[in-house]
Amino acid sequence: MQQKLTKTETKYLRTLAKKHILLPTKNKKPLVSGWNKYYAEYRSIEKLLELNQEYSLRTGTSIGDYFFVAIDLDDLWAKERIKDRRYIETNKGIHRYLLIKELPKSCWLVNQKGDSIGELHSKGRFVVGIGSIHEKGTRYTLKGRINQKWCLKFEKLIELQDFLKERNIKTTPWGKKGLENVRDLEIYETKPKKVESKISEKQKYYQKKEKLEKRVNGNPRRENLNICYICLVYFPKEPEIIKSHLAGKKHQKNWKIYQGKKEFNTPYKIVYSVSSKSKNDICFLLKKDKK
Ligand SMILES: [Zn+2]
Repeated sequence: MQQKLTKTETKYLRTLAKKHILLPTKNKKPLVSGWNKYYAEYRSIEKLLELNQEYSLRTGTSIGDYFFVAIDLDDLWAKERIKDRRYIETNKGIHRYLLIKELPKSCWLVNQKGDSIGELHSKGRFVVGIGSIHEKGTRYTLKGRINQKWCLKFEKLIELQDFLKERNIKTTPWGKKGLENVRDLEIYETKPKKVESKISEKQKYYQKKEKLEKRVNGNPRRENLNICYICLVYFPKEPEIIKSHLAGKKHQKNWKIYQGKKEFNTPYKIVYSVSSKSKNDICFLLKKDKK
């Protein structure tokens, strides 16, 4: 069984042998957790092959201005269907790698009758890489002449759509089959992270605050408890405990964060002062005056 990569394969894989694309897998299962988030693979393809006889390439990952996406056909007619000499022979069918500027959603590929014939692997998915050995013994092998372009390149989603259409390959959303579900390719929308995290941070604060207040109010010793609204914790109104909390690393850090955040959205103004009623009563929180 030829396991080593050929010169052409090595050349072909050069652009893909990157730490954010490589993924150690065995029998198509990732060998690392959290691979879909922050994983970086520093070992080489050769090393991964040596260890597991298999590795994978994460799709939907970026290469310069493009995204790496793979067409995965696994029916009997895959080779005829792709009308291309450059492809990767898999156990049952073929893989065809491509680069595209507009990131598509992963989806199912179906034939004229609406039967599933494969998948389009994009964001959050992976394909077993060239040189890997399938559990049934097949080697994922690069086919095609040396001088053939390594990868299909598309600017727009519509170009990929046309490429598929010319080959009588239709697309249905993930998990759906049948002609009634045939849809054009959809763009993978990245969530507006900044806005979302701002909202969720604020919401998180309020959720935590409400929970905490409920707990404190349900406590029979609530009169003797103090809440730090910066850290969202409570403790007995005892000078030593208050002092040590205020001096604590966690509180100091949170206090700095709070001061730095003018947009920190609470209806409260947080101040430290010793209440006039009792020397032990430190007010961490005052309601904003209504104007
Ligand atoms: Zn605190």
